[in-house]
Amino acid sequence: MKIRTQSISRVEGAFLEIDLEISQEMLPIAFEGYVFTDQLTLKGKLVNEGKHLFRLGATLHAQIEGACARCLKPVQTDLNIEINESFVPSGHENHERVSQQMEDAQAPEESMYVYQDHIIDLEQAIRDNIVLSLPQRLVCSSQCKGLCPKCGQNLNQKQCDCSVDSPDETGQSPFDRLKELL
Ligand SMILES: [Zn+2]
Ligand SMILES: [Zn+2]
Repeated sequence: MKIRTQSISRVEGAFLEIDLEISQEMLPIAFEGYVFTDQLTLKGKLVNEGKHLFRLGATLHAQIEGACARCLKPVQTDLNIEINESFVPSGHENHERVSQQMEDAQAPEESMYVYQDHIIDLEQAIRDNIVLSLPQRLVCSSQCKGLCPKCGQNLNQKQCDCSVDSPDETGQSPFDRLKELL
């Protein structure tokens, strides 16, 4: 995922088309609980913004698989991540940040990535964007009934004989009794 910038480094506004296929092995990181089920694609542009600053504007497409938070069935989902990141030469990151803030004090703080020797490595920026975009949890369906907490039966497939939610012999739920005690 290393991009050579020499060909666009002299002309402000010059850009490189980015059209990369990224295999899972090229992202040597464990994304907690998720695996990629296909290669990732990155499409967009790397633009010379002047003053040795390059900006990546691209869409990352990935397909991930994780376990349903309720029944643990594997669930696949697509990620389409808009990536907008800036790259500055090493040693310039603080200077660039300050000058940018002075130009527009309202601009949200933007992370800067550092490159060296006319080579921009996109890996860290891609990783960071993936981590920020991973869903908190996946469910196989909004109607998923999950697993019985007592016997582990997948309640989507069949109802078990455990009476987890049903009221006990008094006809009261445990919550009603708790209310009486309070
Ligand atoms: Zn489920
Ligand atoms: Zn059960």
